[in-house]
Amino acid sequence: AKNGGRGQFRFYSSDLRDEEEERALLLKDLREALASEQLQLHYQPVVRTSDHVVVGFEALMRWEHPERGPVSPDIFIPAAEESNLINQLGEWALRRACADAASWPETVRVAVNVSAVQFNNVNFVSVVTNALAAAEMTPDRLELELTESVFMGDSEQTDRTFQSLKHLGVRLALDDFGTGYSSLSYLRSAPFDKLKVDKSFVDSCTQKDQNSAKIITAIIGLSDALGMETTVEGVEAFDQFHLVCEKGAKYIQGWIYSKALPASIVAERMRSGELK
Ligand code: C2E
Ligand code: CA
Ligand code: CA
Ligand code: CA
Repeated sequence: AKNGGRGQFRFYSSDLRDEEEERALLLKDLREALASEQLQLHYQPVVRTSDHVVVGFEALMRWEHPERGPVSPDIFIPAAEESNLINQLGEWALRRACADAASWPETVRVAVNVSAVQFNNVNFVSVVTNALAAAEMTPDRLELELTESVFMGDSEQTDRTFQSLKHLGVRLALDDFGTGYSSLSYLRSAPFDKLKVDKSFVDSCTQKDQNSAKIITAIIGLSDALGMETTVEGVEAFDQFHLVCEKGAKYIQGWIYSKALPASIVAERMRSGELK
């Protein structure tokens, strides 16, 4: 039985237990979760600001632990990245997301987060190809969200993967833009279709901090100049929404519009015409 409350999250990061022991337990539970359907994908709408049309959804992984309740991806994804498990989780997410999106209107895209470990795995391109084939989905409806950490591996292998993915025809987005370092050099060579402006810029976008707003404007300008789209993430409040629109944001994601929703609700709302 679960006893609810925020303390549930702390179980896996508690310093009462030996850290190694804690991580081993989490990974064991996570393996079981993958095998016994405790994992789900929820979908957060990506909204075009000009007409409020939902142009796509980002798939976000959810884990409901049978005893401990919800465990945040910010806890279990980094743990899985330290083991091979991330490759299995990632493959599951790609297949699930393509299968779900196959029933949506053809104009609606699905974005899937890809860990750097997974991206740099030699099988990655075939995993993507197979997920698309199994769902009979056209590649340009799938967007892979990558972070700058994909560039930390073998650069020739990374280049080859980028070229193969472009050849396949999937879209590529650079996630959490502006939070890493030397981002600009990556933009010179990697074929991204979209930049996602990190929520931290929106959070600090207040009257007192004019610089965050200016940085958002500059990122949108840079992205436009390079022929990429921009999505501003984590928009929660009306004043933030108006501000980022004023700065030229064409796409936003955030609680102001919707949190991530279960696949069944997305499908239902799409059928009833409530979305799109
Ligand atoms: P992310 O890719 O940057 O995803 C955005 C996060 O911001 C999500 O948290 C989303 O629920 C949250 N968010 C969206 N709009 C708002 C808002 O208006 N306000 C606030 N406060 N939060 C908002 P979530 O779902 O907890 O995921 C956290 C991170 O875990 C993700 O960050 C991503 O790095 C990772 N993640 C989630 N699912 C997957 C997955 O399937 N594969 C991989 N590799 N990573 C995943
Ligand atoms: Ca993301
Ligand atoms: Ca992000
Ligand atoms: Ca993030």
